[in-house]
Amino acid sequence: MSQQHNADATVNLGRHQRTCSVCAHQQREEIESAFIGWRSPATIAEEYGLADRSSVYRHANALGLFPKRQRNIRAALERIIEKAGEVDVTASAVVAAVQAYAKINAAGEWIDRTETVSLNDLFERMSTQELEAYAQTGALPGWFKGTVGATEGDGREDNC
Ligand SMILES: [Zn+2]
Repeated sequence: MSQQHNADATVNLGRHQRTCSVCAHQQREEIESAFIGWRSPATIAEEYGLADRSSVYRHANALGLFPKRQRNIRAALERIIEKAGEVDVTASAVVAAVQAYAKINAAGEWIDRTETVSLNDLFERMSTQELEAYAQTGALPGWFKGTVGATEGDGREDNC
């Protein structure tokens, strides 16, 4: 990993650590991997006895976990695919997630560049909040839906 080259970051990190309940937590590593794995910060806070999700967000922000989480798009897609049977995710969202999952390698890089919708570009255009909403509820931003919808058309109903 590259080092922080911002001296202020070190100072701020020290200040952060003195007041952070996650830094002092015995299961800090679990909390961090849960966050990077797109678990809901509210759920994380509840499970690990933290005050609320803002404790998780503050820690994630101070430790630079947001970019790590964004690169971990596969985990987000796994959660969508997993939830497909439980919540009312739109069919196109699931199809898009499955397609995207199949094409994103472990480093979060798009490994195929065919003529199909460039979901990679679309994901990149999504904000952290939009990605999180997508991961948790399957809700797509309006502009995303319009783009993906354009390629639909063979309503298969295979159920394996
Ligand atoms: Zn912390």
